[in-house]
Amino acid sequence: MRYAEVSVNSPVAQRRTFSYAIPSGLSINVGQAVWVPFGEKILQGIVLELSPYPAVAETREIIDVIEHRPLLSPAQVILARWISEYYLSPLFDAVALMLPPGFERKALTFVSAAPNLNDHDLSSLSPAQQQVMELVRKKSSLNLKELEKRVGKKKAQTITSQLVKRGLVTRSYEIEPVKISTKRVPYLCLNVANSQAREMAAKLRGKRAVKQANLLNFLAEQSEPVPLTEARQRTGANKSVADALIGKGLVTLQQIEVKREPISYQGITPSSPLKLTAAQESAFNSIREAMHREKAQPNVFLLHGVTGSGKTEIYLQALAEVVKLSKRGIVLVPEIALTPQTIERFASRFLHKVAVLHSQLSPGEQFDEWHRIKDGEFDVVIGPRSALFAPQPDLGLIVIDEEHEWTYKQHDKSPRYHARDAAIKLAELTGAVVILGSATPDIATYYHAQKSDYHLLQLPERVVPTEKSPLPQVEIVDLREELKAGNRSIFSRSLAQATAKAVAGGEQVILFLNRRGGATFIQCRSCGFVLRCRRCEVTLTHHFAEDVLVCHQCNHKTPVPNSCPRCSSRQIKFLGIGTQKLEQEASFTLPQARMLRWDSDMTKRKKSHEEILSKFRAHQADILIGTQMVAKGLDLPRVTLVGVVSADTSLNLPDFRAGERTFQLLSQVAGRAGRGPLGGQVIIQTFSPEHYAIQTAAKHDYASFYDKEIDYRRQLHNPPFTQLALLTYTHTNDALCQREAERMRAQLIEEKDAKGIADLSLIGPSPAFIHRLRGRFRWQIILRGTELSTFLSPIPLPQGWTVDIDPVTLL
Ligand code: ADP
Ligand code: ZN
Ligand code: ZN
Repeated sequence: MRYAEVSVNSPVAQRRTFSYAIPSGLSINVGQAVWVPFGEKILQGIVLELSPYPAVAETREIIDVIEHRPLLSPAQVILARWISEYYLSPLFDAVALMLPPGFERKALTFVSAAPNLNDHDLSSLSPAQQQVMELVRKKSSLNLKELEKRVGKKKAQTITSQLVKRGLVTRSYEIEPVKISTKRVPYLCLNVANSQAREMAAKLRGKRAVKQANLLNFLAEQSEPVPLTEARQRTGANKSVADALIGKGLVTLQQIEVKREPISYQGITPSSPLKLTAAQESAFNSIREAMHREKAQPNVFLLHGVTGSGKTEIYLQALAEVVKLSKRGIVLVPEIALTPQTIERFASRFLHKVAVLHSQLSPGEQFDEWHRIKDGEFDVVIGPRSALFAPQPDLGLIVIDEEHEWTYKQHDKSPRYHARDAAIKLAELTGAVVILGSATPDIATYYHAQKSDYHLLQLPERVVPTEKSPLPQVEIVDLREELKAGNRSIFSRSLAQATAKAVAGGEQVILFLNRRGGATFIQCRSCGFVLRCRRCEVTLTHHFAEDVLVCHQCNHKTPVPNSCPRCSSRQIKFLGIGTQKLEQEASFTLPQARMLRWDSDMTKRKKSHEEILSKFRAHQADILIGTQMVAKGLDLPRVTLVGVVSADTSLNLPDFRAGERTFQLLSQVAGRAGRGPLGGQVIIQTFSPEHYAIQTAAKHDYASFYDKEIDYRRQLHNPPFTQLALLTYTHTNDALCQREAERMRAQLIEEKDAKGIADLSLIGPSPAFIHRLRGRFRWQIILRGTELSTFLSPIPLPQGWTVDIDPVTLL
């Protein structure tokens, strides 16, 4: 007998596998999907290990395989275990990352009467048992669901069990039908030889059945079956014409499987590799060498280069190199950057060899794409963080563009993994090379590169073949000085003048603000009271158009009060600014300028990003106002001025990464503005102009920012010098929530003392920054130390707790 360790799709399973015996005659491999009995249920599971011995004394048998070929590769099996152990997530959550879309299904139970029923005495059955027996005998096999509908769920289950015990009925299992399946399309197919069809067409014409004759002639000209829709378009024949030919036995209608191709290659012109600049060449050579070396360690490259320095060209050539070695690649890009233009750059270099995995694809497209990738049809898979788990065979290269982006961390659901760290793990397992690209690398990534854990490759300058396009000039405006000078407007004098000048000169301006809505919050000038959501406790945002206060956490709306709810003062004042308010003030300051606003209020619809951008590109507006999304529009040639209306919103967040976040945002703005021939200028408005994040971003000086920031991190014992874990407990009762958090803290301290761990500190418990979310309270404990997964692993977390290892934000 052989045994399998199976990760079972049940919330009860948590981080464990379960041992099952493999019945003789069933061939089982690692990575394969199987049906297993689990308590009273039949559940899906994935085989993670085979062994000659069971891990426990009593085992049940695997019922059947779900699919014959393994769904996970051996490397993915190890990766799933690592994700579960490191991020402390249920094992099946980690496994599920790697399964085909639409995989999760249930088993249906069927009940049938035993074949030798006449030998039994049925008169001793209870009336209820007899009733069930009646129903079962009417059908060859009865879906248990149907039986439950007739006699009630509980009763159906108990009586079925009783009847099974007496040998009167048997149970069998079938998989719930697939919700997503391959797409089939009707095709018309000739049933006779082409010559015969032409003869028949002539006869039909003689009988004045012209339409049938035309359709038949058309089909006789084709060498293959034709989609019904195409035949209709080409000949004008409707369905009844086709039916007439089918009735005569000349033609058949066949359902043929078609592949959905999410990339339209129409209009994509093939591109060829560019001749690399000296800096690119040297970076590329290091990567190429690592690819050719067996098991090069470390095999992680940090490609640090400003936007426009030619990183993407290096990705493309590295991918071509890996293809030469008969391997394949995965490219991760931030969700927001997964635009047709990005995809086209890859698709034009690897025609018909690029797969896209994207949440905006239909489930059917995702399903098809997954299976085609598994079949080895693509050289390159491109997608957001989850694309890392695509079943790409022969993986040789993983590229993570904009590696500093926070969206690479899944923070809102289990498993709370970071795609960068998972990619490095996967590369270790497969021997693949990893390229992390960024203009503003994550502080931790750069620290690893400094320590030579990763290879550091630098592209210090932009690639512009003819002339040098210098980085734009950045001016910092001190808003305190504006107030002193009596200017109470959102626009500093400098920004107002520069905007007016640009618009008058037929140039375009982008105004950037890291908030949406009207005045962001309302504060009483007499007592300092700030209006907050009663459910979430976040500050309410004033939405100008509707003149209401909106909670951005729960969407709760309340009217704007006339006086302070606490002290009744009428000095209730708008503080802070939002995109709508900015738009209003801009049109007041510059009445002749045409404005366009771009924020998430405006872009709920799928395509509207592109619409707004193309409107602006076509110069249908002079000023584009928006939140950080406008950073995408920065390489428009007519844009000569970018104004950062307030750099302070992100700087003042209570999070140790606020400086890094601000630097990244400002650098993105300052690094991308003015890419056209007209050059560019950036104006940053702030109440804290001396802050190093602002100063260094203005000078495009990553190295100085890094030096300052890493110093602070070291002094304050923050990552990358320590590790953080965030434990959050949520409950509808605040007092109970606090008590449970305190109990957990006591338990953690006990554990720490028992193990004699010195370098572990606990922060909190405290109410979370967003204390109340959708009616539930949240309390949190922050752990700071090393090897926190190992420490936390044996500690049971009751329901209501979540754990986030290496959180990207503590808010
Ligand atoms: P990044 O990814 O760093 O933003 P890109 O690879 O997109 O940089 O390069 C910026 C621009 O320079 C693109 O238009 C690209 O086609 C061009 N480019 C990149 N490398 C070269 C090269 N070696 N020779 C000529 N043009 C190049
Ligand atoms: Zn007040
Ligand atoms: Zn709320």
